[in-house]
Amino acid sequence: MGYKLVLGEKAAVKVKGVEIGGKKPIVIAGPCSVESKDQLMEVAWAVKEAGAHVLRGGAFKPRTSPYSFQGLGVEGLKMLREAGDATGLPVISEVLDPRDVKLVAEYVDILQVGARNCQNFPLLREVGKAGIPVLIKRGFSITLEEYLCAVEYILLEGNDKVILCERGIRTFSDSSRFTLDIAAIPRLKDTSRFPVIADPSHAAGRRDLVLPLAKAALAAGADGIMVEVHPRPDEALSDGSQSLTVEQFRELMSELRRWNLV
Ligand code: PEP
Ligand code: MN
Repeated sequence: MGYKLVLGEKAAVKVKGVEIGGKKPIVIAGPCSVESKDQLMEVAWAVKEAGAHVLRGGAFKPRTSPYSFQGLGVEGLKMLREAGDATGLPVISEVLDPRDVKLVAEYVDILQVGARNCQNFPLLREVGKAGIPVLIKRGFSITLEEYLCAVEYILLEGNDKVILCERGIRTFSDSSRFTLDIAAIPRLKDTSRFPVIADPSHAAGRRDLVLPLAKAALAAGADGIMVEVHPRPDEALSDGSQSLTVEQFRELMSELRRWNLV
């Protein structure tokens, strides 16, 4: 086995009064990308009022094509920090480059390592040194063993405030963009000592599947979900097709409550 520090007593990760992996599942919500102050503030207040616990917003974006919107960078991080402070929600944003870890950590409460960087070992070591919580998404073509080995790199630097995230893997199925690996949720919870959340938005690739996948993940024991929300998804600069409108996010929250899942 290529890991050992991931094993042990379960412990919740606490961020500004929010307990991830505690008694109640948590909801991380917000736009795929921070696009403007107005866009972000609108979503931030809406998700806060609907009951979200953490605000997300990408500023450094890992886009498949270099011609796609790459994110607002530090300007986006400043807007995210401002929205977090205004609403009282802790904020999370992705860091792509090991050289940017210290910079991003100045603005966010949780660092996100994206699926494409799950095995970027220099980045993992660097977020391990940052000392603040790290949400690391499972790479979409790696096994659970490989995933836990990747997490071990973060732990080796002395940071054990780690949150795992199943966000869908590549399979032959064309029912959704990626296949949400539901079994991975209980397996990761049983094997590791970290909270495990699910990202139904990136798994689905389409907004009509976000609610059913969110329900499935929470019913399988996920400690929370991460969902993309945009005030006008048709105008989104990234991941519009899977982004919920603010109204749809409210419906998702009330449906999850109706099923006692949050
Ligand atoms: C994201 O959270 O916007 C993102 C790029 O996710 P993933 O790394 O899972 O593709
Ligand atoms: Mn996205």
